[in-house]
Amino acid sequence: MKLSRQITVLGSAIFCVVIFSLYLMLDRGQFDQPKSPHREGGFPKGQLSILQEKIDHLERLLAENNEIISNIRDSVINLSDSVKDGLKNPEAINISRGSFSPLLPSAPALLPINKEDCQFAPVSGSQKSDVQMLDVYDILPFDNPDGGVWKQGFDITYDEHEWDNEILQVFLVPHSHNDPGWLKTFDDYFRDQTQHILNNMVVKLQEDKQRKFIWSEISYFSKWWDGIDSQKRDAVKKLIDQQQLEIVTGGWVMADEASPHYFSLIDQLIEGHQWLEKNLGVKPKAGWAVDPFGHSPTMAYILKRSGLSNMLIQRIHYSIKKHFASKKTLEFFWRQNWDLGSSTDILCHMMPFYSYDVPHTCGPDPKICCQFDFKRLPGGRISCPWRVPPEPIHEGNVEHRAWMLLDQYRKKSKLYRTKVLLVPLGDDFRYSDSSEWDQQYQNYQKLFDYMNSHPELHVKAQFGTLSNFFEALRKTTNIDESNSPSFFPVLSGDFFTYADRDDHYWSGYFTSRPFYKRLERVLESHLRSAEILYSLAQVHVQRSSKLQAFPSGEHYKLLTEARRNFGLFQHHDAITGTAKDWVVVDYGTRLYHSLMNLKKVIVDAVHVLVLKDKGTYIYNPSAPFFSMDDVQKAQDALPQKTVIKVTGHPRSLVIYNPLEQERTSVVSVYVNSPKSKVLNAAGKTIKAQISAVWEGATAMSPDTYQVSFLAHLPPLGLAVYQLVESRDAESVKAEYTVFTRGRSNKVLSDGIFHVNELDNIVTDLTIENSYLKLLFSQTSGLLEQIKLKDDGKTHNVKVGFTWYGTTNNRDKSGAYLFLPDGDGKVCL
Ligand SMILES: [Zn+2]
Repeated sequence: MKLSRQITVLGSAIFCVVIFSLYLMLDRGQFDQPKSPHREGGFPKGQLSILQEKIDHLERLLAENNEIISNIRDSVINLSDSVKDGLKNPEAINISRGSFSPLLPSAPALLPINKEDCQFAPVSGSQKSDVQMLDVYDILPFDNPDGGVWKQGFDITYDEHEWDNEILQVFLVPHSHNDPGWLKTFDDYFRDQTQHILNNMVVKLQEDKQRKFIWSEISYFSKWWDGIDSQKRDAVKKLIDQQQLEIVTGGWVMADEASPHYFSLIDQLIEGHQWLEKNLGVKPKAGWAVDPFGHSPTMAYILKRSGLSNMLIQRIHYSIKKHFASKKTLEFFWRQNWDLGSSTDILCHMMPFYSYDVPHTCGPDPKICCQFDFKRLPGGRISCPWRVPPEPIHEGNVEHRAWMLLDQYRKKSKLYRTKVLLVPLGDDFRYSDSSEWDQQYQNYQKLFDYMNSHPELHVKAQFGTLSNFFEALRKTTNIDESNSPSFFPVLSGDFFTYADRDDHYWSGYFTSRPFYKRLERVLESHLRSAEILYSLAQVHVQRSSKLQAFPSGEHYKLLTEARRNFGLFQHHDAITGTAKDWVVVDYGTRLYHSLMNLKKVIVDAVHVLVLKDKGTYIYNPSAPFFSMDDVQKAQDALPQKTVIKVTGHPRSLVIYNPLEQERTSVVSVYVNSPKSKVLNAAGKTIKAQISAVWEGATAMSPDTYQVSFLAHLPPLGLAVYQLVESRDAESVKAEYTVFTRGRSNKVLSDGIFHVNELDNIVTDLTIENSYLKLLFSQTSGLLEQIKLKDDGKTHNVKVGFTWYGTTNNRDKSGAYLFLPDGDGKVCL
């Protein structure tokens, strides 16, 4: 912050110096210019070259000036670079052409509506599931014993002949987990890692048709797509056609499943799916979520309704994983709690071990599995923490190594009901170097060739996409054939709160960085409002030639950009609050920038909608027709309410209802006069209340007041009211009773409001209306009793505040974890 201020000051100083010298140069240039154009021919040669030099010099100054202005703009607002993806990256120079969809109607997105979905949680509950998560928590001992090589599990044994009649099918699924921001910003990760991963992918998958790869984050994929040529794009399409590359989930990000509203989850999924449909003609079939911190059935429902049939989840409490492994319920149909039938069922694979990295995905023993992560070969940048490195596979060791790996595969398969096994192969930002592709794919191909050419091993191992695995799984269990009994158990419930070990519960992130969690919700409502208003305005624009000045294309881009910034923030290190500080500022700047743009779209769309005579429409971006009722000055600043200057001339106040229902609600705005009154559209004065705006416990603002009134709003509609200052304003003035309890500072009031100051309360402190009466504690001010007036019953209430300390252990509460030192202590 300090640094950026210094840069700003320095930049401004340089800017001033340049402008001043530029001015001087122009000033002098004028002296040197011929007084009359007729004298041009008689200009001495020497003077001409001097003039030429001066013009050159001026041009250089102008260029420098432009650069300085752009630097200042960048350092002060820090917007254009971080928001308009691709400017930093030379490969993605054309976001506006490639990334944004033209203003053309999309293919109609018709989704079937199941009648059952419209029934709200019936009283009788759900159809019985085989596994109900609420019951599982009662069964688990949460004792966390040492499980041996599989620390959080148990010893796995098998009979060598188990696969004699039905071979083990192994699908090794290479993947690269790309966080759209965490330790680096989205753009920096893209520049340093992601673009290289995707570029190498195109080359390396083409080398051998047996090679497979999956990708999930469309935010990255679309940014990369914008910067590649048509030849590369064709190669990608071919890889998808040949099922070597599969797009999994297809969301803008791999979204967090605890903090976002379901609207946001759907919105980021639509953004990704629309992009895929328009650019690749792809509809994802399987979900892939290896890193979100706990899993929600809402996500399962959204995926199912988005046309996906299968999904994979990973970060689940270790005790649940162990329990499910022992019962062989790691693969199940996930059903909504309220579903009376089976229409919400989606086939779900839960990964059994600690992590999605290679040491924890081939089988139960990480020391063995790590030796099959060929990026960790000796001499590389990373090694195995279990101190046994991988060996390159060659003729001399392939038999032994294949056996070691097959043993892990067999043990892992014992945790599932079928002989179809999924083995992910990847980690964070893997496959960025070309050599890593060779190391993994070549060594594994040697192992697979060996395994597959030895029938006595009863195994078929291959690279696979996620859908290759699920197709084989469905085939082996005949679950897609009608009348076949369900092979997998049905599960209902959720997988919160996640713990990866001991008492490390990941509930800290539920409340990390609350400022940005709130900003996301504000952007969400603005985005929804802007989309509806823009669509309504667009209907008028298309009908009327008088509205052609309306910036349809420009605002469409702003809406798309806002949806993408909003979608980006649903990432499991963004809305969770677990990214580094500078990454948080990057997200905040994107949200803030889009909020500003959405306000612009809202203001311009409403302008079109409220104009009675469309012929008078003029689009002037420097003088917007409306201003919004609050202003946020920076990405990390709190919004301030706009104070409306009310005079004798009525001022219009337009209120928008983004809901599909008619609403009657209290609307409050700030005004500069206590003599304000509110008129409805018919010009009739309506009931209003003027209240003080408090600037502290005992100070009222001397020049700002709040006017509140009941507004009636049509569904998805606008209502116009008017504010006017009037000597005989009939608005009701609020009255205040301030309990000073012996404090010396008196309430500062300008006499407009009646203020009753109480040193001591002799009677109960109560608030009441015609429905209820509330009683508060005289000492703490907290609610103690509620009396309902219709039945006369009194209900005692206890409100308290507790605080938690943090442990003395090495691991402490933080952005991710909530690790208290014991029970909460009452503090109020
Ligand atoms: Zn992640």
